[in-house]
Amino acid sequence: MAPDGQIAAPNVYDAEPIPLAARDEIERLLTSGDLFRYTAPEGAPVALLEQEFADLLGARYALAVASCSAALFLSLKALDLPRGARVLIPAFTFAAVPSAVVHADCVPVLVEVGSNYRVDMADFEAKLHDAQAVMISHMRGHTSDMDAIMALCDARQIPVIEDAAHSLGTTWNGRNIGTIGKVGCFSFQSYKLVNAGEGGILITDDPEIAARAVIMSGAYESNWKKHPGMQNSYMLWQNKLPLYNMRMQNLSAAVIRPQLPLVAERVAKGRFNHDHVAAQLNACDWIDVPPPLAPELRAPDSIQFNLTGDWTDSEALEFQHQAKRRGVHVQVFGLSEGNARAFWNWQFLGDQPDLPHTRAMLMRACDVRLPTRLTRDDLDYIANAIVDAAMAAKT
Ligand SMILES: *Cc1c(COP(=O)(O)O)cnc(C)c1O
Repeated sequence: MAPDGQIAAPNVYDAEPIPLAARDEIERLLTSGDLFRYTAPEGAPVALLEQEFADLLGARYALAVASCSAALFLSLKALDLPRGARVLIPAFTFAAVPSAVVHADCVPVLVEVGSNYRVDMADFEAKLHDAQAVMISHMRGHTSDMDAIMALCDARQIPVIEDAAHSLGTTWNGRNIGTIGKVGCFSFQSYKLVNAGEGGILITDDPEIAARAVIMSGAYESNWKKHPGMQNSYMLWQNKLPLYNMRMQNLSAAVIRPQLPLVAERVAKGRFNHDHVAAQLNACDWIDVPPPLAPELRAPDSIQFNLTGDWTDSEALEFQHQAKRRGVHVQVFGLSEGNARAFWNWQFLGDQPDLPHTRAMLMRACDVRLPTRLTRDDLDYIANAIVDAAMAAKT
């Protein structure tokens, strides 16, 4: 409570605290100095995390690495695409995604994204003919039509990588996101559902992709023997592939493992928070929260909504300003300077064709964090502040 008896604007920036259970394990690791994943003959925290994560998602193999960006990069390298291969990615994603494609010596081809934050399937199909791989970013957890994407790609034998960095716990037709394509990649960066500061993991059922990714992640000499399954494949690839040394260290795994049993609860809480705020925002004529596609059950820790009707850029900026006055930080993706999620800021790609639909969406799409720890009063405060700010900006 603020001193005048009003509820203070909730803090949505701080990350979630780390479960106490992590402390003993970290103490043990600090005492022994056993921080490198390949020192112990077996049972290293990173190896245990890989097993637990694979079991949680229902995948055969998991490889823990330094970040989701590293996982995306290694996934592309593990597909063994020719240099210059064209990789379709949604034009609404985080700059790390086109970056991973560039690092892997491939060429990103940006696909239009609609006002519901999902891949525009007509543009996707039109650009698929000369693509050699597809990387679908479930941006902010919004799932594109994976049935349509997989049908189109399977028919052409084009591999699909899922960037599920921000989608842990989301399901599609009851299936875990990240298990639909050939590879799924997740992030443990602090603003994702599981927080280790930094970290990432990839999952796959394909033994060749797993073997290649393990070697390239930095399993030099015979360290691949500490990864279960498919021993022969590893033998084949050892010393044939470059090492990128993107390994995870044991301290990160010690922070992540006790959070895995909390995922289901965080997903349920996140969904409640999102839907609670969405209902209040949708009651305002100037705001629209796009619904999920029918097969998606989402796991949000933030909310995205569009300013609908007739908004000028200066009115949208005024809305941002009015929300800030009420203590709520709203970001209009396309109106915040240098936003890493606006494709025109990815100057490292050189000249790109314009993407008018994605651009129009980004100029009116807003982003607000809703960490799972928020109380009902916090949520009501945020929803009210957003609605009031919209009314203030439009009058
Ligand atoms: C956070 C994020 C990434 C990058 O994850 P890092 O672990 O920080 O490398 C990639 N894609 C999406 C959609 C993300 O949200």
